[in-house]
Amino acid sequence: MSAKNSGYIPEDIVEQVLTATDIVQLVDGYVKLKRRGVNFIGLCPFHDEKTPSFTVSQEKQIFHCFGCGQGGNAYRFLMEHERMSFPEAARFLADKAGITIPEAAGSGRNPDEMEALYYAHNLALEMFQANLKHERYRSVYVDYLQKSRGLAPETIEHFSLGVAGTSFEDLVKLAQKKGIAPTTLAKAGLASYSSKRNTHFDRFHHRLMIPIQNLSDKVIAFGGRALKKDEQAKYINSPETPLYSKGSTLYGLNLNRDAIRKENCAIVVEGYFDLISLWQVGIKNVVASSGTAFTLQQGRLLARYADTAYLFFDADSAGIKAAIRSVDSLYNAGVEVKVISAPTGEDPDSMARRGAETIKELIKSAERYLQFRFRAFDRAGSGLVERNKLIGELKEISARIGDDSLKS
Ligand SMILES: [Zn+2]
Repeated sequence: MSAKNSGYIPEDIVEQVLTATDIVQLVDGYVKLKRRGVNFIGLCPFHDEKTPSFTVSQEKQIFHCFGCGQGGNAYRFLMEHERMSFPEAARFLADKAGITIPEAAGSGRNPDEMEALYYAHNLALEMFQANLKHERYRSVYVDYLQKSRGLAPETIEHFSLGVAGTSFEDLVKLAQKKGIAPTTLAKAGLASYSSKRNTHFDRFHHRLMIPIQNLSDKVIAFGGRALKKDEQAKYINSPETPLYSKGSTLYGLNLNRDAIRKENCAIVVEGYFDLISLWQVGIKNVVASSGTAFTLQQGRLLARYADTAYLFFDADSAGIKAAIRSVDSLYNAGVEVKVISAPTGEDPDSMARRGAETIKELIKSAERYLQFRFRAFDRAGSGLVERNKLIGELKEISARIGDDSLKS
């Protein structure tokens, strides 16, 4: 996210966006405001209070809190409240105002192309969602999602789930009708080129489709879960594109960031359905790393919203390895790490289906990272050489981050 949206934004555009923004309308989306005289007041989102001292001035287009002193313009509000960087805040407001921010010179990206890529994703999303409602894919909706996955219709709707049809050219054809060339679709990661047949075909077919959105709620990629039992690849995901960088995106962050900020901690899971199942039972402060170890960028992204991450991966050895590989990035981003262990043979998805209380108990029993490592070590029954290696590694982490909480 941050790498993509960073970059210089011309001063006149910064001003133009600010002029086109009404701060009262913006803040009202996050804070309940009441008119008082020429101003609007509400309970301050930056400090705890019972009587409102948070004021928004429509005339001056600024906010100010007489309790904690926070204040500034619309950009400042988004940077403080949504933890956006300045370019992110600028792009967010520009989007709302329908103003195009030119890409920084030398970025190699042109705004028309970016728009076309977003448009292609929207087209795909609409088609996948329409498919899911279609009689033809009723078994996906009823048997797979509802019966087998245990998802309610509202959950399916909330996560905009869909289905890619069995044909290899549904999307290519639809896009062409809408003026999107197959080459653009390929650039969006939604089509592939076959040199043998000299033609483009849909990247996703016969898959359950999970849209991945950026912090402005725009679809930038998809995860595709196989629907056929004997399918080789259980998941096919979008490749890296000008819109999507896997290492700097966290699945579900746009949907769950308010809950994460409120709890000041995030549960980190691997899979889309882990997150979706947890959300359904009311555990909403969750992000998914989409099956890879955390990168430093993802760590920094999460650090904007929470001080603590609870790693909640499968109990098997692959899950433990993923947890271990994620730790460095999170610590380096300043996020404290704890580990939730699911019982053997279980995963976050299966645990979520037992209800929110089960999950809350697991969170209470979360271990500090050091404890977790020693226990995993003991369980593996490793020898002295391994033990010394582990101690060396943990000392190194402790020294680097200089964090007392690790010295438990
Ligand atoms: Zn305040």
